[in-house]
Amino acid sequence: MTTSASPPAPRLLIAGAGFGGLTAARRLRKLLPGAEITLVAPQDEFQYLPSLIWIPTGLRQGPELRHRITPMLSRLRVRYVQAAATGLDHAGRLLRTTAGDLPYDALVIATGGAWLKSLPGAKGVHGVCEGIDAALQVRGRLQQLVKDGGGRIALSFATNPKEPGALRGGPVFEMLFGLDTWLRRQGVRDKFELTFFHASTMPGQRLGESAVKMLLARMQRQGIHTVLGKKLAGFEDQNVQLDANETIASDLTLFIPGMRGQDWFANTSLELSAGGFIQADALCRTSAPDVYVVGDAGSYPGPDWLPKQAHMADLQAHAVARNIADALRGRAPNHKPRPELVCIVDSIDSGVLVWRSRQYNFMFASRWLHHAKRAFEWYYLRDLRAAEASAMTASA
Ligand SMILES: Cc1cc2nc3c(=O)[nH]c(=O)nc-3n(C[C@H](O)[C@H](O)[C@H](O)COP(=O)(O)OP(=O)(O)OC[C@H]3O[C@@H](n4cnc5c(N)ncnc54)[C@H](O)[C@@H]3O)c2cc1C
Repeated sequence: MTTSASPPAPRLLIAGAGFGGLTAARRLRKLLPGAEITLVAPQDEFQYLPSLIWIPTGLRQGPELRHRITPMLSRLRVRYVQAAATGLDHAGRLLRTTAGDLPYDALVIATGGAWLKSLPGAKGVHGVCEGIDAALQVRGRLQQLVKDGGGRIALSFATNPKEPGALRGGPVFEMLFGLDTWLRRQGVRDKFELTFFHASTMPGQRLGESAVKMLLARMQRQGIHTVLGKKLAGFEDQNVQLDANETIASDLTLFIPGMRGQDWFANTSLELSAGGFIQADALCRTSAPDVYVVGDAGSYPGPDWLPKQAHMADLQAHAVARNIADALRGRAPNHKPRPELVCIVDSIDSGVLVWRSRQYNFMFASRWLHHAKRAFEWYYLRDLRAAEASAMTASA
């Protein structure tokens, strides 16, 4: 009697452990229970970036936003390799990493983006976006200013001139309104000058025109100075330098630079966009067979407001998991992530929801939206926390 050997389990490889990478791991495991799944990332860690805005004002301390990923990955039967991707041999179907070459039948690149720091002095300005440690530094500086009796705080964000959609503006509005609320609660708002500056007269256009007008009107109502339509030239110790020798005096500058693709993408021979991101088609496929990209690492076709957001990374990872499952089953993949911008601009005491899709663009303000943002953080982190807690109990 002859027995037919079952085909080997497909080898699925995910690079990155942010929103896109973890969602891809969860979805792929659900759709392909027998697959051999490996995730490669430099640290056994997930940082919940949307809540970094609450660290400077003390609503979050830092550690509660940092979670080990290996307990959840082992529940999902996903192997973890601690390494960074450094290149790709797509003819040989190998991801090059600092821990050696990893083979794949399908690869999901979810390693996020990088920052453009080309302006003079940009390395010295505080970037809350860079993670928990950077946000804690901002808290230290803010506390010092309060102790010193006040100061001037200037905030802004920029884009990538080669790829105008590569920006992160929402957290700057959140920092601005959050600081305003917090300083009022401390009873020291009158000791601080808050200034929002931007090269455009309509900053944050991706949220929609009415949202931008509403945000600017709110700044005016709350005594936040605005300097708009002035090109940024660089940063000095206590100054923001604008073109035409204008300056904004600042004791604490919070600036989020434009985004660009990561350096290692240049070693992949994948097609890259003008801003250096991995170019994707509508199904999140790259120029190499069976290589997909999700989240901030990619550049995608779609409306000009298509966000680089956690929510969008999740939608892309869902679609990619289904496309990989279809391709492995011999079906033509056809799952396109729907373009959607969903953002709560938080101000600690309330929030404004901005929702944009192909059909709708609306917003509304409510104090409950602050609690909704907190509830979403709890919901997103719950399985990471639960897996971490049971791993700790098991090892005790
Ligand atoms: C302050 C702040 C507030 C935000 N607020 C919101 C919000 O309210 N709503 C929202 O939807 N989005 C928000 N965002 C945006 C959101 O966090 C990002 O869009 C999202 O994290 C992108 O997910 P990603 O998986 O593509 O990349 P990332 O989350 O950046 O994850 C990248 C992963 O890849 C790993 N990695 C990096 N290089 C390599 C390499 N070479 N090899 C292997 N792994 C690598 C990293 O360690 C990390 O694990 C916010 C971001 C910030 C910073």
